[in-house]
Amino acid sequence: MSVSESAPLQVAAGVEESMRFTYNGLPSRVIFGAGSRARVAEELDRLGIKCAIVISTPEQSALAGELARVIGSRAGIVYPGAAQHTPVAVTESALLAVQSVRADGCLAVGGGSTIGLAKAIALRTDLPQVAVPTTFAGSEMTPIIGQTEQGRKTTQRSMKVLPETVIYDPELTVTMPPAIAGPSGMNAVAHAVEALYAEDANPIMSMMAEEAIRAFGKALPVIMRDNRNIEAHTEALYGAWLAGACLGNVGMAIHHKICHTLGGTFNLPHADTHCLMIPYSAAYNREAAPRAMARIAGALGAADAPSALYDLMQQVAQKKSLAQMGMTKTDLDKAADLAVQNPYYNPRPITREGVRAMLQAAFEGLRP
Ligand code: NAD
Repeated sequence: MSVSESAPLQVAAGVEESMRFTYNGLPSRVIFGAGSRARVAEELDRLGIKCAIVISTPEQSALAGELARVIGSRAGIVYPGAAQHTPVAVTESALLAVQSVRADGCLAVGGGSTIGLAKAIALRTDLPQVAVPTTFAGSEMTPIIGQTEQGRKTTQRSMKVLPETVIYDPELTVTMPPAIAGPSGMNAVAHAVEALYAEDANPIMSMMAEEAIRAFGKALPVIMRDNRNIEAHTEALYGAWLAGACLGNVGMAIHHKICHTLGGTFNLPHADTHCLMIPYSAAYNREAAPRAMARIAGALGAADAPSALYDLMQQVAQKKSLAQMGMTKTDLDKAADLAVQNPYYNPRPITREGVRAMLQAAFEGLRP
């Protein structure tokens, strides 16, 4: 019997919808484990990189110097000039450094800002990249790059910017003070939460998202008490990898849009904004995405997802309301206006009234 002649399959109610999907696997090689930065030289060799530009922020220049020593003659130049939001002027200066030694690859050691600069170089040169993340932001797993020029941040996707190799070493995240580690972890949780109700969600990414939320739910409270706890950092970095993969594979929704607006227009800090807003974004979608909510709640061992995310946020956030972050009521009106511009997917339709109410709750720091 041919396929066209066969009787339609009976699919249980509720299954069919989630079992129709498209999945694109992204090619990246991941080396994971405490001490794995010792394998950087081997991984550069594997990619044929003989003369790397070693990139960091000014604050992490000592670490960049340490890795440059580890890779010996493969270190062409150290460029400790990465800055937040990947300013194009910094990229242009780094490209001069690339040309000065004819670098044939990038080694980025740091958080999303540092990895952003390596991606910006790769976008323009197609040089291969080895990324050694030191926060939980997850940029190293995505083909996405955001760049800033004349105060405007624009984001694009290109496979050129996806790092070829990522080395996750939890010994490098333990140096984050809790005030950076906690919000950075919640930034990753936010990728996973939105992956579960993404328009193009698929079972693989949902499985990874749920596991990421579980890992952070376990690790973050420990890190806040004992920020050099290597087991907790290992668990969290594992979660960061999974959550970064989610961000790279499926589309995000209201939460990422509102955080982009708050960061871009009001200059609120990236990870702290994600950390504060994720309980409220989840609450916005509570009724519209019941399955995602059940999975998030289950991963956190709780009954209600937004409430459980709020409890986690309360444990890690330095600033626990938009008011504490310096926003005013007029800013909330402006942010709500901006967030409803350019329609985008979200499980619950985006309305100005709904977004304004969500921002008000976050402004007051109320339990959602
Ligand atoms: P960051 O890279 O800006 O780092 C914040 C600060 O922490 C810096 O001063 C840095 O030097 C320091 N730091 C980093 N790791 C440390 C460590 N282990 N110990 C001590 N200090 C450390 O912060 P981030 O949150 O990782 O990255 C934010 C940026 O990344 C934003 O610009 C965001 O847009 C971008 N991002 C991009 C993507 C993407 O897919 N393109 C994904 C996530 C984030």
